[in-house]
Amino acid sequence: MAMLLKGAPVAAALSGSLAQRAQALRDRGVVPTLAILRVGEKPDDIAYESSAMKRCAKIGVEVQRFLLPVSCSREELLSTVEAINRDAAIHGCLMFRPLADRAANDAACMRLVPEKDVDCMTPRSLAHVFTSKGVGYPPCTAAACIEMLDHYGIALEGKRVTVVGRSLVVGRPVAMLLQARNATVTMCHTRTQDLAGECRRAEILVTTAGKAGLIGAGCVSPGQVVIDVGINVGPDGKLCGDVDFPQAEPIVSAITPVPGGVGAVTTAVLCKHLIQAAENLNPPCG
Ligand code: NAP
Repeated sequence: MAMLLKGAPVAAALSGSLAQRAQALRDRGVVPTLAILRVGEKPDDIAYESSAMKRCAKIGVEVQRFLLPVSCSREELLSTVEAINRDAAIHGCLMFRPLADRAANDAACMRLVPEKDVDCMTPRSLAHVFTSKGVGYPPCTAAACIEMLDHYGIALEGKRVTVVGRSLVVGRPVAMLLQARNATVTMCHTRTQDLAGECRRAEILVTTAGKAGLIGAGCVSPGQVVIDVGINVGPDGKLCGDVDFPQAEPIVSAITPVPGGVGAVTTAVLCKHLIQAAENLNPPCG
């Protein structure tokens, strides 16, 4: 039976140390504060916002919400981002921007200063993930995969890791973070010739395809650690990952459940980046 890599203990451990850092900031008059800028009322956005707010409350991070209607103008959106940039009491910003006007969305992201870009929405932050130069925080989900592996004591140096998926939000950044930890990374996508073989060869498999049941028994091997980032709705209408859990679990040595795996760690990582940003923006005097 595989070891179940649950997210809750990882999030709890992270939250404990972050609460101490949040208190240390408060003791010197800095209230760590996250801005949430949401355009519209998309249910997925509201659900993530509410779980982020709960996590922030547990850790001692204040939240200021900036809510705009989908009918808002590009100018309103940009001036809200500018206000967040200018406000020294705000240390980071999470942005939900499902505007039909993609150029306005992109402009809003570009306007956010990298010091407050705690979920890697700007190209400058991505550049940091790829080059380790400049300022920036990796996307929270990609960083949550590394937190999971570290928490469960899974060494990365020299390991063969296969990442399925190459989006800028998860697949590519997680591959960069793994390489930065000296793993040997193979990236797979829809044009990969032998997906099952590439997956089986890995000691650690990270799957970020967003396809229920993609990773079946033929894609996993004994001794393997499987990190399933996918969040999908299965044929039975229930939430599931990319991995066919009943097929894979008896074969591999450790696996994340969905739900209750990586997703449970993402908001704790958001708070970690926010606290780091508050510390960086308010270095202790003397
Ligand atoms: P995305 O932009 O759709 O990217 C999916 C990637 O997977 C693409 O690179 C695609 O390859 C690849 N892919 C899709 N089907 C494949 C197949 N049959 N074989 C091989 N590769 C395949 O999705 P995303 O934004 O990265 O999100 C991925 C998943 O992670 C989704 O289920 C999403 O809900 C989930 N997610 C979870 C969290 C969390 O907190 N756990 C956070 C964010 C996202 P091509 O490049 O060739 O198209």
